Amino acid sequence: MIPFVQTYISGNESKYLNEVIEIGHVSGNGKFSKLCQNLFKERYGFQRCLLTSSGTSALEMAALLLDIGPGDEVIMPSYTFSATANAFLLRGAKIIFCDSSSQNPNIDSESLEPLITENTKAIVIVHYAGISCEMEQILELCEKHKIKLVEDAAHAIDGFYNSKPLGSFGTLAAFSFHQTKNIVAGECGMLAINDSELINRAEILWENGTNRAAFHRGEVDKYTWTDIGSSFLASELSAAFLWAQLEELDTIQKRRVEIWNIYDNELSMINSLEERSTPQVTKKAQINGHIYYLVCSNENERNELISYLRAEGIYAVFHYNSLHKSPYFKKSYGGNELSNSDRYTQTLVRLPLFFNLSNDQVYYICDKIKSFFNLT
Ligand SMILES: *Cc1c(COP(=O)(O)O)cnc(C)c1O
Repeated sequence: MIPFVQTYISGNESKYLNEVIEIGHVSGNGKFSKLCQNLFKERYGFQRCLLTSSGTSALEMAALLLDIGPGDEVIMPSYTFSATANAFLLRGAKIIFCDSSSQNPNIDSESLEPLITENTKAIVIVHYAGISCEMEQILELCEKHKIKLVEDAAHAIDGFYNSKPLGSFGTLAAFSFHQTKNIVAGECGMLAINDSELINRAEILWENGTNRAAFHRGEVDKYTWTDIGSSFLASELSAAFLWAQLEELDTIQKRRVEIWNIYDNELSMINSLEERSTPQVTKKAQINGHIYYLVCSNENERNELISYLRAEGIYAVFHYNSLHKSPYFKKSYGGNELSNSDRYTQTLVRLPLFFNLSNDQVYYICDKIKSFFNLT
């Protein structure tokens, strides 16, 4: 069976984990956390990076930092993971779901503006599959209506829009290093802060509302509770694992993009079939090889494709169930119909994509898909 994902191991993970054990600093904000944070800062130009215990906690920090509270509305796509919504719901915000684009599962920048009210405090975007949203239109709207932008960049490491790294557009951006992502560290994430005025407070919220970071730098003489917060920081065990992966970032990305491109070349003929498509990448977006997916014509066909591939030894999976129709949210949802979001819920299938997937396996998968669609 060709699995759907397999964890890439660079080989230095256990070496760095042992180093952490020897140093004895196993809690957060030590040597490896700093190495990882600096790498992101240097490589992508984020103003400040803080490693967190998950992508989810980075989103929770974002909601806290923007002072989201009851009465505030936060607009986001429905076609995403529950974590995107939970972080803001936990602060008491009202979630306004926006439809996906007809081109790809990203938030539809055309449907955004009518959802904006005087209570809109933030727009949260997800760069689905690591393919950038329409940043020019979205930034223009945020500017015009004075709304903060948060990037859920969980898929988006090393993706770009107009040569600018994803995660550098929003006031804040959340990355994930969960096992299912391009770069993994068990459960781990990162908040990128692109507004210098939020950096001090971010450091404080990160360590349970204390000024521990400033204390350790010798900037204050007392270490005390100064704000609300939580234990958001990642342990050095995660950071050490992450560092071993980050040393191979270029190698990992190169291979993933290679695989993505083979899929895309081999399967592009699917676009000649009505109502079926491969990922539509807008001109300015540069892919990062996170997810390769196909859109089928209907739910039945999608499920048949998944079963067909499974019988051929290929593990393909569907993806998000739109949040506005989820068992948790549907009772309280009173918004618009989100037809594209519903369509991706019913028709999208993700293909295996991981570092150790061989070219032969990718061609094998493509051949099976072509025969399913009678394209050979
Ligand atoms: C993975 C993911 C998250 C959450 O990341 P964790 O590190 O698992 O907490 C949030 N949003 C999206 C879109 C994701 O895919």
